[in-house]
Amino acid sequence: MQEIAFIQREELKEKPDTASLGFGKYFSDYMFEMDYHSENGWHDPRIVPYAPLTLEPSSMVFHYGQAIFEGLKAYRGVDGTIQLFRPEKNMKRFNDSCDRLCIPQIDEEFLLHALKQLIFTEKDWVPDGEGTSLYIRPFIFSTEPYLGVRPANQYKLLVILSPSGAYYGDQLSPVKIKVEEQYVRAVIGGVGHVKTAGNYAASMKAQEKAEAGGYAQILWLDAKENKYVEEVGSMNIFFKINGEVVTPRLNGSILPGVTRDSVIELLKYWNIPVSEVKISIEEVFAAHERGELEEVFGAGTAAVISPVGELNWNAQSITINDNKIGQLSQRIYDEMTGIQLGKKEDPFNWIVKVTPVEV
Ligand SMILES: *Cc1c(COP(=O)(O)O)cnc(C)c1O
Repeated sequence: MQEIAFIQREELKEKPDTASLGFGKYFSDYMFEMDYHSENGWHDPRIVPYAPLTLEPSSMVFHYGQAIFEGLKAYRGVDGTIQLFRPEKNMKRFNDSCDRLCIPQIDEEFLLHALKQLIFTEKDWVPDGEGTSLYIRPFIFSTEPYLGVRPANQYKLLVILSPSGAYYGDQLSPVKIKVEEQYVRAVIGGVGHVKTAGNYAASMKAQEKAEAGGYAQILWLDAKENKYVEEVGSMNIFFKINGEVVTPRLNGSILPGVTRDSVIELLKYWNIPVSEVKISIEEVFAAHERGELEEVFGAGTAAVISPVGELNWNAQSITINDNKIGQLSQRIYDEMTGIQLGKKEDPFNWIVKVTPVEV
């Protein structure tokens, strides 16, 4: 494997209080950096002080948006070791995102190795309070100074780290969700199935509108018929209807979440019926009408499981499970976070340890 260079900082930063962490506000001392040029491929992998970048104003990313990212977490296990959750899936999805945006492929194994080395360097930044973690944000963007429209010949890959606080306080709390009826997130054949910066830019208008109406997040419907359920802002969605769990099948415009996949695996392991389906919002509301909509929850790295207490669509609001956390939602949350923290068995081999031996 390529040698990873290290450039030391003169002075380390002061670490924030665990209680004030929040999300995405603080960044650790170091970042991983690597550049691509069509003449020599990905080169110069290095761990360097976290610092501002210098870029040409003509860098292609500012004009044509070749920008992709990933999001995963490092957890401080109960035994003090640092653990990653299925990171190879994030590496694979990173390359899928590269492929869709004509960004050159990265060596997944090498990037995971680099990521572990960075985290090990920054081990003191992995918080250990309940529900806290070190958020890992790998991203790539085009840097070539050029104004013609075509895939760039130069890119930069960075991995930055941000200690993050508990998403919830003591307890999972149900959120209010607005089903978006005017705007759409992604079309089949587009880029909805990969993690591009542009997907988020396109979603902000609707998110702003939902927040103004008192909703936490949006539930997106399919872009063609405005009828079938796709996903929430940055989470996949699950419905428990009459004892069976369903989630929209991956149709090409839905982001294939690692958490989504893990929830499905877990339910199968527990022998709880689960299926990937094409489900309309009308069916969801009809199930509620019949008294069969038992639980609704979002699934994503940030919150793991986010119970939905209220859904609003077509000028109608429904309350789910009395606006309380469903039993199954809680059970999945406890199991997944238990595995992530090494409190529970990991029968799926999901955990990857960040140990000095690897470095
Ligand atoms: C990242 C993301 C998710 C969740 O994926 P995880 O791998 O579970 O974190 C869901 N939807 C969108 C649009 C996303 O960007």
